[in-house]
Amino acid sequence: MTDMENPFWERKSLEQMTREEWELLCDGCGRCCLEKLKDEDTEKVSYTSVACRYLDTWTCKCGLYDERKSFVPDCLVINPEMIRTIDWLPVTCAYRRIIEGKNLEWWHPLVSGDADTVHQAGISIREKVISATYVAEDDLDAYIIDSEI
Ligand code: SF4
Ligand code: SF4
Repeated sequence: MTDMENPFWERKSLEQMTREEWELLCDGCGRCCLEKLKDEDTEKVSYTSVACRYLDTWTCKCGLYDERKSFVPDCLVINPEMIRTIDWLPVTCAYRRIIEGKNLEWWHPLVSGDADTVHQAGISIREKVISATYVAEDDLDAYIIDSEI
């Protein structure tokens, strides 16, 4: 196989990807849209099993993706530089895996050709979380999870 025959995520760096390729690289797991709490003393970021109120907890898609910054100011619009600096992206996250020199897993939609495999493999947050719509902000710490979903 020549280099040009390799899929884009194997032959391009994150910086070299087109906007479309960048978006396709997201596996649609929804994990990064879980509410997180930061310990003020240790700076440790803990995930909760509470999903952002704009995340559809079945499809794992954002309900207002293109305008999300207007509604959720602290929603990160990630870019290659950020991927290198934030340490809380899930270990399964495709962007993190590429930065770490790993390839995509079989369940990634780009590999399987099926958007459902991320759910079938139990990687996505489907059926594992509650929407922030039903949780008071003060109660979030009761939902901290030890490990990632
Ligand atoms: S954790 Fe990574 S792969 Fe999963 S939804 Fe977020 S950005 Fe996409
Ligand atoms: S606004 Fe959308 S992209 Fe941002 S955390 Fe919420 S669901 Fe995720």
